[in-house]
Amino acid sequence: MDECDIHDYVKASLSLEFESRQQYLDELRQQLDVLNDPTMHIRSDELIEQAREWYRIGHTIKGTAPILGLGRMGRVAALLAECWEWSYETRSLAGNELQGLFQDCYLASRPLLHELELEYEINCKELLLEQKQAPLKEALPSQLLGSRLLVVDDDRVLRSFLARKLRLEGYYVDVASNVEAAIKLLKENDYQLITLDLMMHPQSGYEIFEVLKEDPMIKWLPMLVLSGRNDMKDIVQCFRMGADDFVTKPFRYEELSARIQRMLLRHMEFALLAFNDPLTGIHNRRYFDLQLQVEVNRAQRYNESLTLVVIDIDFFKEVNDRHGHPAGDLVLQKFAHLLQSCLRKTDILARVGGEEFGVIMPGITDLEAEKTMNRILQRVRSEPIAKHDSFDHFITFSAGIASRSTSKSVQNWFQVADYALYKAKRTGRNRVVRTSSGMAQRNLSGLEPQAEEPRTILIADDDRMLRMMIADQFRKEPYKLLEAKDGETAYRILVEQQPDICILDCIMPGMSGFEVLERLRTEGTRAAKTQIMLLSGRSSDEDVHRGLVLGADAYMFKPFSLIDVEMKVNKMLSAVRKTGKIQL
Ligand code: GH3
Ligand code: MG
Ligand code: MG
Repeated sequence: MDECDIHDYVKASLSLEFESRQQYLDELRQQLDVLNDPTMHIRSDELIEQAREWYRIGHTIKGTAPILGLGRMGRVAALLAECWEWSYETRSLAGNELQGLFQDCYLASRPLLHELELEYEINCKELLLEQKQAPLKEALPSQLLGSRLLVVDDDRVLRSFLARKLRLEGYYVDVASNVEAAIKLLKENDYQLITLDLMMHPQSGYEIFEVLKEDPMIKWLPMLVLSGRNDMKDIVQCFRMGADDFVTKPFRYEELSARIQRMLLRHMEFALLAFNDPLTGIHNRRYFDLQLQVEVNRAQRYNESLTLVVIDIDFFKEVNDRHGHPAGDLVLQKFAHLLQSCLRKTDILARVGGEEFGVIMPGITDLEAEKTMNRILQRVRSEPIAKHDSFDHFITFSAGIASRSTSKSVQNWFQVADYALYKAKRTGRNRVVRTSSGMAQRNLSGLEPQAEEPRTILIADDDRMLRMMIADQFRKEPYKLLEAKDGETAYRILVEQQPDICILDCIMPGMSGFEVLERLRTEGTRAAKTQIMLLSGRSSDEDVHRGLVLGADAYMFKPFSLIDVEMKVNKMLSAVRKTGKIQL
């Protein structure tokens, strides 16, 4: 349903509600007219029939009026029905007795009839007023229309009341009456907010908090707790466990609705900042990585196909170099939009690097993904991607595709797709390479042992804080981190464990970084794959020169930014891959 549909839907539901209330009031009018028009001097059998009719009308109103929100009318009608109930009893009454009873009941009914008339008038006026005010009622902010909410409550009446009111506002609403059903729905759908009742059976609402915490994506979900208990301990406990708001029953719907809107808007703004790429408007790497795990879990649960695509624009640097950064930016934006328009709504697209994009395709095999990507490639080959300063920009891209392999970690899966991309680049770019996961793993383990085993980074520095900070910078990567606080330890690790990268401080107590390099060289103990980056405290060319002569591959001056270290190390790691230490 798009925005227009939802507006129409809200309008239609509202008018349906008004219409059914109007219809009911019309029906009530007719029933009240019958009650107001008794015929007193009639035969006994006709009197009984009349009494029964009055009983039936009272009984019907008693049952139906409260459903349409006319509770008081229902209660008065119940008294009326009670008054005439005798008419259905089997004992026969003599003519005089019947006349007397009828007369008494009629007198007793008069004030009730009067009250019913009053109620009727009040309800007619209220309906008119509501119809007039309906268009003035504050509309849901358009960005919230169609947001999906989950109402978890074991009170059937409250649950359906909430669902109905929220749907009328323009939300999609799912309901769950217990924790188990709620968890199932949470795992199957994407919600923007949950309202949760705490006191439920057999499991209490608290158990949902546990599930939420485990899931990387739904742990962000705003949660509003509705509780019948206004107990300070409960409230504090809820907030400690992750609730975002707490409302005690009974509550006023308007207030609840305002709280929900506020939370949704705030969460949306936050999600936009945290999970979107400002240049292209599509998701960013952070979102992509989280979603990758969510989709893997989902695919595993339902045993569905799941395919990952990594896309990299070919020779993109040239666009920047020849036409300037703004032209490059425009190309990135247009390419992101083109990808978005060619993918299904269920595919998850993100900008995962400078000119690198990732797509998660749930329910799609690698063969189908290959077809889609080739179609998109065909399109960018034949149409300019962007026009900038009246120049038509054409691009091509390379893409690597890997279907999910059940046995491997998410990181490994990404590496497999990345490896296919690398293969596409190496074999001429402007192409899509699909690797069945089995084949890719064979290739990776045969040609690039580091892809199977995590890359190893040795951090050799006598400053404990610095070691910790650098190590922290790499924790999110699937690297194995080793530390050495002096030259001797660094040397031993370099020889015995042959790390992929060594970040080596020049000046350390005992054996210095330079001496470590010297010894590796003279004793021929340096592993071929190990790349060494020197950390120099003095920004002197002399140190750098000495280090490079002794075999360092790169250097950094202290103080440095941790991001720079991370980028440099990552670059060195990918250089290892690109400089032919593996062959295709
Ligand atoms: P290849 O075919 O091997 O992928 O070559 P390439 O030139 O596309 O790749 P390379 O990694 O050498 O260069 C990527 C370039 O992307 C370098 C960088 O300046 C540019 N880039 C990264 N992010 C942005 C951005 O946000 N805007 C612009 N305009 N350029 C960017
Ligand atoms: Mg590129
Ligand atoms: Mg690139």
